[in-house]
Amino acid sequence: MDVSARNDRGARRGGDWVRLLWAGAIMAGFALTLAVLGAWLRFEIAGRGGMPAYVVRIALPDGRGAIGLPPVEGPADASRPLVVIDAGHGGHDPGASGPGGEHEKTLTLALALAVRDALLADGHVRVALTRSDDRFLALSERSGMARRLHADVFLSIHADAADAPDAAGATVYTLSDTGSGALADAVAARENRVDTINGVSLDGKDDAVSQFLVDLSQQRMRRNSQDFAALIRREGEGQMRFRDVPLQQAAFVVLKSLDLPSALLEAGYVSNPADVRAMTSRPWRDGFGKAVAHAIEIFLAGGGGA
Ligand SMILES: [Zn+2]
Repeated sequence: MDVSARNDRGARRGGDWVRLLWAGAIMAGFALTLAVLGAWLRFEIAGRGGMPAYVVRIALPDGRGAIGLPPVEGPADASRPLVVIDAGHGGHDPGASGPGGEHEKTLTLALALAVRDALLADGHVRVALTRSDDRFLALSERSGMARRLHADVFLSIHADAADAPDAAGATVYTLSDTGSGALADAVAARENRVDTINGVSLDGKDDAVSQFLVDLSQQRMRRNSQDFAALIRREGEGQMRFRDVPLQQAAFVVLKSLDLPSALLEAGYVSNPADVRAMTSRPWRDGFGKAVAHAIEIFLAGGGGA
């Protein structure tokens, strides 16, 4: 009896505390609301006079959400010129295939890494790779990385393919609307087809935008790109075999939206046994890497006169 009475008193005291806490919480909430309202009113009143009362800042995505930027390697000095090396194809897009089952995407990555390593060994310029592993990237993502990194030059590396097994040697392509000829157009068409795999339309809208950019500012870039291509040819002489007409022009999508000097190097034919032997050989790739690296370094140093 006595015990239960104490318990009742205890329960009542406990209930009082809960009620008190609730009342406190409600009053605190009310006070907070008043404070916020007061602050808002102050800003509203202060804002009379034409000036905005306050600025709302919202963190917007900066467009880097989908595809992150690759690391920039080489000298820490950000004033050093930057080259973006693009290993063609990757992931579910193997590119062209050789008679022995060699995939273009594997060769292009090995070649891009060889150029990267040669540039890092020299230590003059900064380097970024659009991909350093076996992943798919749309063409616009590749050029987009170069743009967002403010690259000074862009080189996309590929390996050609032809029905004729004796077709062999390297070709350096630069951007053109018309193309050097039917063969150059065919190579561009094959390399551009990649994006349709990803469901990205290469329709008239894209062309119109590209054409606008081209007309405005790309004439100079095209001349610079041709100088760059000629340097690759000059520095590659003796290291790699070139086709009879090694400098060609065609409408490559990956080069189209770039407002910087750029080229696409078909390093050899994946359909040619000798070219495949070369491209899968480490010593050959080292020589290739050094030659292309020299071309890039000379170009970025503003020299050449090729
Ligand atoms: Zn390719």
